[in-house]
Amino acid sequence: MQSPLVYWLRQDLRINDNATLIAAAKTDRPIICTYILDENQSNHWRNGAASLWWLHHSLNQLSDSLDALNIKLILRRGSVVEQLEDIINTTDATCLYFTRHYEPYSSELENQVNQHFSDKIEVKRFKGYLLYEPEEIRTGNDEPYKVFTPFYRKCLSTHTPSSALRSPKKLIAYKKKIKSDRLNDWKLLPKKPNWAKGFNDYWVPGEAGAHENLKDFIKHAGSKYGVLRNRPDICGTSRLSPHLHFGEISPRQIWIAIKNSQKILESGSESYLRQLIWRDFAYHLLVHWPDFPTKPFRKKFNQFPWKKDTKLLHAWQHGNTGYPIIDAGMRELWKTGWMHNRVRMIVASFLIKDLLIHWQKGEEWFWDTLVDANLANNAASWQWVAGSGADASPYFRIFNPVLQGEKFDPLGDYVREWVPELSAMPKKYIHSPWLAPEDILATAKVTLGKNYPCRIIDHSFARDRALTAYKKIRTLAD
Ligand SMILES: Cc1cc2nc3c(=O)[nH]c(=O)nc-3n(C[C@H](O)[C@H](O)[C@H](O)COP(=O)(O)OP(=O)(O)OC[C@H]3O[C@@H](n4cnc5c(N)ncnc54)[C@H](O)[C@@H]3O)c2cc1C
Repeated sequence: MQSPLVYWLRQDLRINDNATLIAAAKTDRPIICTYILDENQSNHWRNGAASLWWLHHSLNQLSDSLDALNIKLILRRGSVVEQLEDIINTTDATCLYFTRHYEPYSSELENQVNQHFSDKIEVKRFKGYLLYEPEEIRTGNDEPYKVFTPFYRKCLSTHTPSSALRSPKKLIAYKKKIKSDRLNDWKLLPKKPNWAKGFNDYWVPGEAGAHENLKDFIKHAGSKYGVLRNRPDICGTSRLSPHLHFGEISPRQIWIAIKNSQKILESGSESYLRQLIWRDFAYHLLVHWPDFPTKPFRKKFNQFPWKKDTKLLHAWQHGNTGYPIIDAGMRELWKTGWMHNRVRMIVASFLIKDLLIHWQKGEEWFWDTLVDANLANNAASWQWVAGSGADASPYFRIFNPVLQGEKFDPLGDYVREWVPELSAMPKKYIHSPWLAPEDILATAKVTLGKNYPCRIIDHSFARDRALTAYKKIRTLAD
């Protein structure tokens, strides 16, 4: 029997199209799969609470899939280097394989692991989390890209995925017993209160759930994606983001499925693949500017007159702003761990531009509450809305929450679903209940300030105030 190989898993929680697992299988060595809950990682960007819920279920699913292949998933917690060392020493493993990840702390950890083990055993790192490696796509001046559209074009002209990797035919199990934690002992799931109890109605974490979502999306929504992707009242997007985040499905598998689908018209497919490349772009920015999650890309935004107002922040976080589309989005987030992209943009614009609250407050709230919380996408998106990012939304684009609601939730169904107090409001006033005559409010059983909040700010006042602040920033040098 050959000495074993250790496969250290992180955000690559899948069996199929997994270059690391395939390479491990090809060695014909017994394979030890391990997931280590990293307790050394600095507190700031540890998994948020909603992500931990997902992680628990995803590890459960992966463990079942590996069991079916006779491989046991070894769970450890603590220092990654110490736990790997313990597994390697007790099993006499001679190879350590893992998949590359790109968050600054993940890269640093990979370097530490490499330095610690590479002169004793074979250490190999594989790709598979992105479509394009961040170093691979460069401008004509051999620099990283700062703007999305040229990045996107360069990606398409470089190469596009043509086929996924075959699943490993046979994995050799390591027969001796290895110490492993019990997943339940990690207490990743919330208790007292169990605020995530509703998540089960919306999600099936794990590889099988990811493929189900993809199949459903292609069958029902894919061909209309280009048109419906902005409609939160219609289930028109793929909801693959948490699956992608945890690597339960690869972007390559999605790319190929979309390309091969006869059901997806050219326009739907192109606009979808563009979103997948936004994900790569966010990682491109993060790798080249690792401070992106904590510092404005445009330094002059350090001088922006942000306001500290915990009462307003609290009203935003809990969906009590008095603007129905904002409240619907924030409550959808709380109940399901996810929010539609269009609504993410509207609520982010409201926090930053109407309330003048620092984008990092929004970034942190999303980090804790999103099941798809992802350092690269979250930071790039918040900075994009704030106007402080590399490729940023124009400073004068300040979403009007009423007009956005009327345009993208035209019948008000999205608001009715998440803000039940307004469920009987007629379409005409669903996005602006403060304009409704008394008798309409009475018939709909809405008493502003009692069972639904009054607006916490007047949008036209807030818009003028934001424009003044943004105009001042514009005059400063970058
Ligand atoms: C303020 C704000 C914060 C965000 N935070 C996150 C986050 O923490 N994690 C996250 O995955 N996405 C984030 N996004 C991007 C986007 O909202 C989600 O990826 C998308 O809503 C996920 O739903 P979906 O899978 O149905 O998307 P689809 O429309 O089906 O898109 C398919 C995939 O493309 C990628 N994608 C789509 N839009 C974007 C985008 N704008 N930027 C980068 N990748 C994108 C995602 O991986 C997504 O799963 C954020 C957007 C905003 C405006």
